[in-house]
Amino acid sequence: PSPDLADRATQTPDVPALLPTVGAGESVPLVGGRRAGYVHLDNAASAPALARVAAHVTEVLPAYASVHRGAGYLSQLCTGLYEQARETVGRFVHARPDDVVVLTRNTTDALNLLASAVPGEVVVLDVEHHANLLPWTSASGRPARVVRSAPTLAGTEASLAAELAHRPAALLAVTGASNVTGEVPDLRRLVRLAHAHGARVVVDAAQLLPHRGFDLAALDADYVAFSGHKAYAPFGAGALVGRRDWLDAAEPHQAGGGAVRRVGVSDGTTATDWATSPERHEGGTPNVLGALALAEALRVLEATGLDRVRHHEAALHRRLVDGLRARGLEPLRLWDDPSDVVGVVSFTVPGWRAAQVAAYLSAEHGVGVRDGRFCAHPLLARLGVDDGAVRASLGVGSSSADVDRLLAALDALLRDGP
Ligand code: PLP
Repeated sequence: PSPDLADRATQTPDVPALLPTVGAGESVPLVGGRRAGYVHLDNAASAPALARVAAHVTEVLPAYASVHRGAGYLSQLCTGLYEQARETVGRFVHARPDDVVVLTRNTTDALNLLASAVPGEVVVLDVEHHANLLPWTSASGRPARVVRSAPTLAGTEASLAAELAHRPAALLAVTGASNVTGEVPDLRRLVRLAHAHGARVVVDAAQLLPHRGFDLAALDADYVAFSGHKAYAPFGAGALVGRRDWLDAAEPHQAGGGAVRRVGVSDGTTATDWATSPERHEGGTPNVLGALALAEALRVLEATGLDRVRHHEAALHRRLVDGLRARGLEPLRLWDDPSDVVGVVSFTVPGWRAAQVAAYLSAEHGVGVRDGRFCAHPLLARLGVDDGAVRASLGVGSSSADVDRLLAALDALLRDGP
């Protein structure tokens, strides 16, 4: 523990929440019948909806009608809003004019859709969330080729280059930011590397996009996938954005109404003329309110400014990391030289199981964190924490008071002992 760090942590100015979220500070029960304002430090799992998103959902709820089907006023209004939401998603990720925006359920859904469209093998790193590891079984039945990451980005890129040179791959699927350490690889270099070996790139931006935005065009990446519920909108809406050709050649993700231009029956079976993307992959009545909520969240982030979001979260991240280090708790790290780090911090407390720590923080102090292996079992094994870790993650609704509550709770835990 370093006294310098302890001093620095207490001397930094207070940082209020950047944007209001629903449920902030709500009172929750603690052990012994006490109650306290809830501190949500699990934004990496799901971030509370922005207050403006909640207001927007309430405002559009009366316009509830089926999209792309009805001739009535509300159907047309809803269809217009749904297509506007698609445009907002495309604009937020800087889609190119030819790119397709498929509205999905979440990142997992988006990556499974792309997996069904990849015309060849997929290479991944061993640092991925299961959502970016398990869908990648090629049409030949071969699972993803997993490359072990090195302690530096340069070393990791060298290992990827060797794998891509060894045997061609259709796609490199890489995280935008680790859901365990918050670390960001050098996406620009990875795209160049993959393209040099004839592979496309999809970025799993579930953890990156809400905190840094995303620029498909500037990165020259081919696809991006993300989830609305990590970007301050409620559950059930996400997106896959990117190149049209593979998506139009793939079987529909959900066969059904809306995904097809014309259906006939001949010789006792169906004859289908499938629509092109995005309709091809959006069969069935879509989650219209989810898409509108997602688009509103992205509009608020745009209007706030991603630079302000970055500065806000960076100040809180520094306070959290300094505070943990001052208590002898070292955050887990993947690389010596990440190109950036978002506000996701995982750590272990000697003598305590991660699940005990998380339960204690919740029950005694009203602080919500996550514990476990974060759907990233290979990475946790690689970091030597097979038993799991504790993760605290920040967002635009977080404040320095939230971080200080966690640190004070950890002080109490360390003082009382296991
Ligand atoms: N990718 C990363 C990096 C994640 O952190 C998560 C969720 O935790 C996912 C993918 C999956 O997101 P969803 O559960 O919304 O599909």
